[in-house]
Amino acid sequence: MPSRPSRRDLIAAAGVAAALAPAAAKAQAQEPAMPTSDKIGFAIVGLGKLSLNQLIPALKIAKGARLAAVVSGHPEKAKRVAAENGLPADAVYGYDDYDRIAKDPRIQVVYIVLPNSMHAEHTIKAFKAGKHVLCEKPMATTLADAEAMIAAAKAADRHLMIAYRCHYEAQNLDVMRRLRTRSMGKVRQINTTMGRQADLSDPSDVWRLDGKMSGGGALGDMGVYGVNAARYLLNEEPVAVQAWAQTDRSDPRFKETEDLINWQFRFPSGVIANGSTSFAYAPTMAFEVICEQGRLVADPAAFYGGNRLTVVKGGQALPPVPAPAGDQFAREMDWMADVVRGKAPMVSPGEEGLQDMRLMQAILESAAKDGATVKTDWGYRRAVDPAGVVDVAKA
Ligand code: NAD
Repeated sequence: MPSRPSRRDLIAAAGVAAALAPAAAKAQAQEPAMPTSDKIGFAIVGLGKLSLNQLIPALKIAKGARLAAVVSGHPEKAKRVAAENGLPADAVYGYDDYDRIAKDPRIQVVYIVLPNSMHAEHTIKAFKAGKHVLCEKPMATTLADAEAMIAAAKAADRHLMIAYRCHYEAQNLDVMRRLRTRSMGKVRQINTTMGRQADLSDPSDVWRLDGKMSGGGALGDMGVYGVNAARYLLNEEPVAVQAWAQTDRSDPRFKETEDLINWQFRFPSGVIANGSTSFAYAPTMAFEVICEQGRLVADPAAFYGGNRLTVVKGGQALPPVPAPAGDQFAREMDWMADVVRGKAPMVSPGEEGLQDMRLMQAILESAAKDGATVKTDWGYRRAVDPAGVVDVAKA
């Protein structure tokens, strides 16, 4: 039977992240919310599940961001949501009069929360209207669209941030900071498993199973969390990938997209990261980092709440570390607001989204060739390490 962990182990498990949090970030943790008039105004584009259940509620508790407008193809729903959230009638837009946002000074950031194939068009329109853009993952369905989004941001001299919420989530930041200190020696292997059962009776899953609208089924929807996690956990980029897919084409869900995909990234440091995604296995968003002297098991690693970290050291599991309270969506939007104010560095730029898209394309290319090695060292390096700058306790 495992013996009780020592007090030293417990303190180490709970305290590494706090000890490493930048001093400036700690000071921010106590910052009160600012007056509504000083908050950065967000227009939410697309009133589906994520917007209604996570983003609009998060804007109510965000410290520096607020809901300024809604954009939807369903006027009645949009009017209702606006009224419920205290927005005036002229803060409701349809896709046909979306360009009118250019003349609306209440909106500084446009948050794109539409099916993936619609991200590029609405992002580029928002830049033409002079707004900054926060865009959901995966950033687009084609590399050409992703590149056009980045170019449009540059041409408009506006910020493009991809909504990688784990870059702003306390537990993920905790794990990144533990790994940066090598508290358990060098990382040897990472395993990420991200998937769930897709359901054709849910309209949100109908477009996710459509090859053109989703750009890749489970891989773009869930697998992208594992692709991104392997990179931010290590703070390095894979140089080669091999992948395999297993899809039952008689299953009506998988007419166009792959079901189960497994891949292996090789990193310059020698770490191997195994990734898996599926739209036909039990729900999971978990990762495990195997180091020389211990393991970090985050399960769940990327849920909206209730994430949990188990540190296994010397073969003994320490008591799980629950993620600190706080809303990761509010943190993410507050971070974008601070980027717009010039008070925070951009952590998740369009280039981050593009790198994941290129890697996902390499995964599909390798899977189509039954595991052939695809080289992925394109020279991309992340500009800002979330572990170095993002305050876990801000929201
Ligand atoms: P959803 O299907 O619930 O909502 C999509 C919205 O787009 C709906 O309001 C729908 O009416 C609208 N829409 C407009 N044109 C449409 C069309 N032609 N077909 C289908 N819908 C259309 O989806 P969601 O779960 O809110 O996802 C939206 C985006 O957010 C996606 O890019 C998804 O990957 C992303 N997402 C991110 C997270 C996260 O944790 N960051 C979680 C869920 C979804």
